[in-house]
Amino acid sequence: MKQAVAKTGPAHDVEIPGIEFRRQLLGWYREHARALPWRGIDDPYATWLSEIMLQQTRVATVIDRYREFLQRFPNLQALAAAEENDVLALWSGLGYYRRARMLHRGAQFVVGELQGKMPTTAAELKALPGVGDYTAAAIASIAFGESVAVVDGNVERVLLRLMGLPEERSTKGRARVTRAAQALVPSAAKRGIGNPPGDHNQAMMELGATICTPKSPLCLQCPVVEICRTRGEHATPARAKQKSRSVAYLLLRRGEKVLLERRAAEASLMPGMLELPPLPMDAVAEYDPVLRVRHAITNTNYDVQVFAESKLRDTIPAAASDLVWTPVAKLREMPLTGLARKVLQRLGVMTSPNLGTPSSAPGAPPILTTKP
Ligand code: SF4
Repeated sequence: MKQAVAKTGPAHDVEIPGIEFRRQLLGWYREHARALPWRGIDDPYATWLSEIMLQQTRVATVIDRYREFLQRFPNLQALAAAEENDVLALWSGLGYYRRARMLHRGAQFVVGELQGKMPTTAAELKALPGVGDYTAAAIASIAFGESVAVVDGNVERVLLRLMGLPEERSTKGRARVTRAAQALVPSAAKRGIGNPPGDHNQAMMELGATICTPKSPLCLQCPVVEICRTRGEHATPARAKQKSRSVAYLLLRRGEKVLLERRAAEASLMPGMLELPPLPMDAVAEYDPVLRVRHAITNTNYDVQVFAESKLRDTIPAAASDLVWTPVAKLREMPLTGLARKVLQRLGVMTSPNLGTPSSAPGAPPILTTKP
């Protein structure tokens, strides 16, 4: 039987049989998709939040944070009215804090300028702060049923493997992938019959995240294996090399307060966030750390050492005005960097959200305290 074929642009594009592809993909998605809290909801604000949180952050990390965020800021109005520090505090540990700032500004824009109504098309959504092509397409298709393709790294990989094409970083290569993705998206939903574009886009991303993974794709479980031209034989480009760096921080307590440093407002990473005061590496050579942890940010692995020596206070390079004695009881509400949160939790100065009140964690090394 002759199959209907999705047109994927100019003659040199590889064609994917659209009807068959969609049928197999959606059937698989409906049966196997992971139950995630942002699926099957009818709340464009929550969809927006989930898409922003999922940028650069793993699904497993996002699940609890998404719920906590919605509990604290259940709608656009609540988020728009919040203080930026409170939004950043809730984002702590997720990294890429610019996302939180942009989301906050976006909520203020929608509430202040658009009478609280979010735009409904990808083209209009791009006017919101922090919303680019990808996020606009995701919100427009998932929340509003627009027939627009979402192309992230997962979708791009799936399509290149399906079509048997090498990865191309050029504008032309990306345009070809976008054309192929768009040709496969079903038409916009008619009222009351589900959301084919939104489900299709989520199914594509799910396939890339769980089956057509970067290394060792599970082709035997793939719903579109019959259509795929490579079936696991596609070369995966090497990832950027990881760099390594050693860093040192000081942990000082004074009664029920801990010394923190506010990062510069113009810092390229995490501006304005609070962290333990960084120390010069040559100042700590003769001391033993109370904690040593590894921490990765983008493509750098940090070997982090934490010292609790009052003598090291004099070696902090930061200006005194950037140092803040912060009550331990308030730490969970503060915009801490992910690393500061991790260290303070490991050392029992603050607890993780699921534990009780802050105290010394069992087995944690003693923390030096200093008098005012
Ligand atoms: S058959 Fe394998 S390579 Fe092809 S799309 Fe499926 S998982 Fe990916």
